[in-house]
Amino acid sequence: MNERWRDVARATGLVAADGSVRPTIFAEMSALAARTGAANLGQGFPDEDGPTWIRELAARAALGGENQYPPGRGIAALREAVAAHQARHYGIEVDPESEVLVTAGATEALTAVILALAGPGDEVLTLEPFYDSHAAAIAMSGATHVTVPLVPGASGFRLNTAALDEAAGPRTRLILINTPHNPTGTVLTGDELAAIAAAAQRTGALVVTDEVYEHLTFDGAKHTPIAALPGMRERTVTISSAGKTFSLTGWKIGWASGPAEAIDAMLTIKQFLTFSGGAPFQPAIARALTDGDADIAALRDTLGTRRDLLLHGLAEAGFTTMRPDGTYFVCADASPFVTDERPDGAAFASWLTEHVGVACIPLAAFCREGSPTAAALANWVRFTFVKDEATIRTALERLAALKRS
Ligand SMILES: *Cc1c(COP(=O)(O)O)cnc(C)c1O
Repeated sequence: MNERWRDVARATGLVAADGSVRPTIFAEMSALAARTGAANLGQGFPDEDGPTWIRELAARAALGGENQYPPGRGIAALREAVAAHQARHYGIEVDPESEVLVTAGATEALTAVILALAGPGDEVLTLEPFYDSHAAAIAMSGATHVTVPLVPGASGFRLNTAALDEAAGPRTRLILINTPHNPTGTVLTGDELAAIAAAAQRTGALVVTDEVYEHLTFDGAKHTPIAALPGMRERTVTISSAGKTFSLTGWKIGWASGPAEAIDAMLTIKQFLTFSGGAPFQPAIARALTDGDADIAALRDTLGTRRDLLLHGLAEAGFTTMRPDGTYFVCADASPFVTDERPDGAAFASWLTEHVGVACIPLAAFCREGSPTAAALANWVRFTFVKDEATIRTALERLAALKRS
């Protein structure tokens, strides 16, 4: 089959058994939740908008005349703010002129870097489970998707470094990681990052790192960008976005920073994906990155409290959970509730939404169909805590009935 969109559909689990294309699991579960009145802990977007002062800046920019195409690389103020942010938080120096690119969310940055630098015959390595757009962009590029599992254990979902060493070889063009990690909530440790850096150095691969949850960590867990490791600045493209950090996911302001050659390559692709966008949002996010630390701290505190509430309630209901160090998500093993009528996490998630009134997402949706990791995580589901406390409490009251069903 030569239709690339079918490869994308297959890579992201969008092909139904009869060969037709179906909606994403996120859309499917949200629609089911809406139809049944379920508390939606499935799709991970905030139900509270970001800080008023940042939204006012964007409104003023729109009314003040910033409504035409911004430059393809992004406005200077935002590129400078990204560079200052990387220096202030992580000690990483990047040149805002040549080493920063503003994109239509992290999604466009991810797609642009993969289309720019990988193609047929190349391998792109990712963690598994993985964020769906990673698999989609790899399929669009025609490269082969190779995965390395995150394995649940006593200290959370951890990288299998032996599998990484085995998987990384001469055809590995990109190693695409995500930390803090969606869906598992894992924040990669210094040792794990060092193993990834070593694999990149051994194979000559470029590392692409998706750090959209960089500020959303809990219990003092510290996010370290792999670009901050010795020798890695020159072989890493770091991607982030304002969506998760400032609860402004609909603005789609993202960015990449890294070596000028990689940024130039991305710009060439980005030029013909969107060219540019978000004119009034760019100056607002430039200010948010500079002056928004207190807002970020407040969001982190709120999310931390809701994470604990959800973890406690899930444990009470009989799930085995993994305590996430970051992100919006808790993963839970639903094995105690899997039966002949609902034989895996996917069937359990549909049943839970319809009959208990709580929506979640099966972890298999973040795995390659039929992979060993998909089999190992077949009974696992993901719940989000980026919802107001009343929604979480309603969900937990309903889940408490599970033990009796
Ligand atoms: C939400 C999310 C993105 C998408 O970011 P946008 O800025 O909305 O494009 C990318 N990666 C991960 C892991 C995400 O959870």
